[in-house]
Amino acid sequence: MIRQTTLKKYADEVFYRPHIQKYLKENVSRFPFKNVKNWSPEILVSDTCGVNTAGQIWLNSKYADEIPILEMSKWILASDKEAKRVVRHEIAHIVQFLCKYDEIGTWHGRGFNIALKIVSPKNYKRGKHSDRGWHETSDILKARKVFHPLTKVR
Ligand SMILES: [Zn+2]
Repeated sequence: MIRQTTLKKYADEVFYRPHIQKYLKENVSRFPFKNVKNWSPEILVSDTCGVNTAGQIWLNSKYADEIPILEMSKWILASDKEAKRVVRHEIAHIVQFLCKYDEIGTWHGRGFNIALKIVSPKNYKRGKHSDRGWHETSDILKARKVFHPLTKVR
């Protein structure tokens, strides 16, 4: 079971990677500010965001200095690997939002793909190792059943 503080550290590690910061500096168009500083998300752990929703990001376009909140389902924390995958996926949503790629295609469409490729250059494609979504493990299934007793293998 990965801890919330570990996930926060991981989110900072990913968000502040030099190539992501450089990309944001060059491509952020959401705000009249060019300097995106404090947009690594805070981590909020809830019992569940939904039977298939491992995480969701809360963003506000009005204020450049408002820190996004990444709400995570407790059951995804059963797998360190998958919880970290969700952090990368949601950080891609932050990049998508900051660069206004949410105006290109759907929430998981073309604009999201551009952002995911920046955040997860090795895992942005569809398939077994993809950061497009989380992957079921026996530990996750067990944890999901606590909150969603009728759930089946995903
Ligand atoms: Zn998503």
